[in-house]
Amino acid sequence: MTANLLDFDLEGLAVFCERLGEKRFRAVQLFRWIHQKGASQFDDMSDLAKSLREKLKGVAHIKAMPVVSQHLSADGTIKWLFDVGDGNAVEAVFIPESDRGTLCVSSQAGCAVGCRFCSTGHQGFSRNLTTGEIIAQLWFAEHFLRQHLKRDERVISNVVMMGMGEPLQNYNALIPALRVMLDDHAYGLSRRRVTVSTSGIVPMIDRLAQDCPVALAVSLHAPNDALRDTLVPLNLKYPLAQLIAACHRYLAHAPRDFITFEYCMLDGVNDTDACARQLVERIQAHPGAWCKLNLIPFNPFPASGLLRSKPERVEAFARILNDAGIITTIRKTRGDDIDAACGQLAGDVKDRTRVMVRMERNRSLRALAVEAPVTGTEGAGA
Ligand code: SAH
Ligand code: SF4
Repeated sequence: MTANLLDFDLEGLAVFCERLGEKRFRAVQLFRWIHQKGASQFDDMSDLAKSLREKLKGVAHIKAMPVVSQHLSADGTIKWLFDVGDGNAVEAVFIPESDRGTLCVSSQAGCAVGCRFCSTGHQGFSRNLTTGEIIAQLWFAEHFLRQHLKRDERVISNVVMMGMGEPLQNYNALIPALRVMLDDHAYGLSRRRVTVSTSGIVPMIDRLAQDCPVALAVSLHAPNDALRDTLVPLNLKYPLAQLIAACHRYLAHAPRDFITFEYCMLDGVNDTDACARQLVERIQAHPGAWCKLNLIPFNPFPASGLLRSKPERVEAFARILNDAGIITTIRKTRGDDIDAACGQLAGDVKDRTRVMVRMERNRSLRALAVEAPVTGTEGAGA
């Protein structure tokens, strides 16, 4: 099997080139062809010596996972479902806004954390994605969008690791992927525009601070351990006091001077005034304006047995926090009509069979050399 060059950060690619008896600087040329120009064929890399191109053909390839489906939402959001083998699929979602283009990227097929309100959590864990599979989502989306929007310059300005999976439980694949995102010879994204979202793997937050400090979002969802234990089972291992202390330690390394807390608003569960006040107390136990709150209206799915908080409740909750001086925003739900919103990715458990059926169908389509088109709203997500 040949190596997929999407698996390497620049240092990894330099080592790969050296092993082929090539100078390290060849890696920079290759890296730029792959990530800046979206090349997948060595023959297109015109400034590489023919002998090197021939050598590369024998030992390497550049390939993203097959796209199972592609959905375009009425609001411009695009969701791609990628086949990662063995009946597993992961999703990436592009969210265009007036001043930025954000790609939401998956880090695992399924997730072992098992949060009660998350459809990925309900699926269980299948496997970690490789660095190449994480980067392929960005590589594919960026070059697809440039081609379709007929743009020469960068389309994706922000990446959030908020798709399927817990990125800090796939740390070894995550770090090189982040490095590719940040590398000026690749996507050149600023650290402030790459966000890792975590349910709170405390020791890994400390490691991220040392290895690749990007913006950090922490999924809080509750102001006390008794409630958080029931929503995010990982809280039993890393309770709130430890998590908040880790967030504080991270601040010294963070590219922004605040941490973002995400808080999924669940009707009658964590959305009361009392919860909001307890949250204020918890946050203000540490001095300074050191965090921001992002309230996410829950995106329901049948197996959760949970409901979305009423808009008035979300606003009242936000008001208590804002009045206390904690900057709190309410996340706009995007891509609702194509199930591309947070926690809806790849549908619920029983739908996995549908994912497989669709994969089969698309395999046959590909066999007929029919490209997966950008569709309208093709019913529910995978
Ligand atoms: N595992 C990481 C990142 C992926 S989840 C984490 O938990 O942070 C990305 C965000 O979507 C998290 O804040 C998560 O709590 C939120 N989320 C999950 N399911 C959701 C749902 N059904 N509705 C709204 N937000 C959800
Ligand atoms: Fe995993 Fe994040 Fe979903 Fe929790 S919310 S199950 S950590 S993907």
